[in-house]
Amino acid sequence: MKLYEMLRKAQEPKGYHFNRDRELVWDLLAALLLNRERYGYRCCHCRLAAGDRDRDRDIICPCAYREADIRQYGSCYCNIYVTHAWN
Ligand code: SF4
Repeated sequence: MKLYEMLRKAQEPKGYHFNRDRELVWDLLAALLLNRERYGYRCCHCRLAAGDRDRDRDIICPCAYREADIRQYGSCYCNIYVTHAWN
């Protein structure tokens, strides 16, 4: 998947890895793409979107909570992004 490779190249050097469960990652990326069609931006599929870009700014993937969640739990809320150690 083109989006997977694009994001992997951009995020891995920053320490954000995709979950090694590829099937889960495909499903989550497909859901993000569906949200892009639905709202015009890739808002998080694990959260309730308002449908307004400004109000949803914090939940556009990668969301504003990813860094703190990865630091604390080793994964983002949806488990798409994880640390190397988590994998
Ligand atoms: S980084 Fe994870 S929790 Fe945040 S928007 Fe993306 S998939 Fe959802």
